[in-house]
Amino acid sequence: MTKFSDLGLAEPILRAVSAEGYDTPTPIQAQVIPAMLEGRDVLGTAQTGTGKTAAFVLPLLNALAHENRKPEPKTCRALVLAPTRELAAQIADSVRAYGANTRASVTMIIGGVKISKQIRAMQRGVDIVVATPGRLLDLKQQDAIRFDRITSVVLDEADHMMDMGFLPQIRNVLKQLPEKRQTALLSATMPKDIRALADKFLNDPVNVAVAQVSKPAERVTQSVQFVPHPQKRDVLTSILSEPDVDSAIVFTRTKRGADRVCKHLEGAGLTAAAIHGNKSQNQRTKTLDAFRARKLRVLVATDIAARGIDIDKVSHVVNYELPNVPESYVHRIGRTGRAGEAGVAVTLCDVDERKLLRDIEKLIGHRLPGNEAGPEPARGEGGHNKGGKNTGRSFNPDKDGGRRRKPRRNRSRPAGNKPQAQARKQSSGAS
Ligand code: AMP
Repeated sequence: MTKFSDLGLAEPILRAVSAEGYDTPTPIQAQVIPAMLEGRDVLGTAQTGTGKTAAFVLPLLNALAHENRKPEPKTCRALVLAPTRELAAQIADSVRAYGANTRASVTMIIGGVKISKQIRAMQRGVDIVVATPGRLLDLKQQDAIRFDRITSVVLDEADHMMDMGFLPQIRNVLKQLPEKRQTALLSATMPKDIRALADKFLNDPVNVAVAQVSKPAERVTQSVQFVPHPQKRDVLTSILSEPDVDSAIVFTRTKRGADRVCKHLEGAGLTAAAIHGNKSQNQRTKTLDAFRARKLRVLVATDIAARGIDIDKVSHVVNYELPNVPESYVHRIGRTGRAGEAGVAVTLCDVDERKLLRDIEKLIGHRLPGNEAGPEPARGEGGHNKGGKNTGRSFNPDKDGGRRRKPRRNRSRPAGNKPQAQARKQSSGAS
């Protein structure tokens, strides 16, 4: 098995990796790190939870470790584009953690916070900029940032950036970068438009795929329950009140829906908070910190707000409403079953959402437990698993021999005895 010390990383970086508690590189790290160290472009298919962030951050830091010069004013050497502020914050945190023994500087350029601070941060120049595309272009337009010293660019979660309508901005940024540069593109799925983007902007990339496209995390026990919309609140409360629910993320389709669900849960005596696009960056950071610190048991989130959240040990994900885009289902349930833990994902489906469920099942290639029979229950009839006690675990008497199935543990990696990584996640924040 490959070890970190075999990959050719500089000693201060290896020390930081070891302080994070990582013993062996994950499959994506074992493939992407050597390729990027050689200066190759990379096209990677990988979801969150695979260790993809370190896979690109470590080589970026390594390249900087060999540079002794300070960046010129308004310039940066590496640029990472990410779809959301949360993911950007997480990447910046990773840069700080893995670069703790180096002099690498990092700054975030993201929407939703004051631009003036970001302009000031760029005045001296930084090593690594982590940015969301729209705000980055705002700074460029104001001549607050120069792209001419960029030697590496990473597009993280490219498919999600596309879902958010960022493709034109990404093309615009890439066109303005120096031709001689390294480009890495990472995406959970590889739709046609992302492939086209890679064809145009990547130069003879090394292709790396670590998880089958669109295959939900294997460690997550999934199920669906047919619940008419008006009854969803009560079913949700009953699921979340079970003692095996340590911490849960509940997904709603809309921001208002998230607020309503949150209010209901609080009324039922559960500690809950919502994150969505109408909350300020400060509020979101506070909520996420409280959730990580286990002061909140339930986080209610919309898809966009939840992207990129990296919190280990989320025991349950509940899809209160089905997502409009089937890929979002895969991303949602990937919030649990992380870092070697088992997870449970329950989907509450109203009759009106049957088509969305079919789209999801088509994408993941199988029916969800709870929907094996297939026939559509009549509107308002409810259906399987209605009401009553519910742990949210899928249960199939044929397969399980009449007993409830335990979630499977430790079937694959990332593994993790990683005390410092844990500590780092408690303190997310912008620079
Ligand atoms: P990512 O896919 O980048 O979101 O990372 C998923 C999780 O895996 C994070 O909690 C990382 O701290 C953790 N991780 C990354 N690399 C390793 C590794 N080599 N060994 C153990 N855990 C890791």
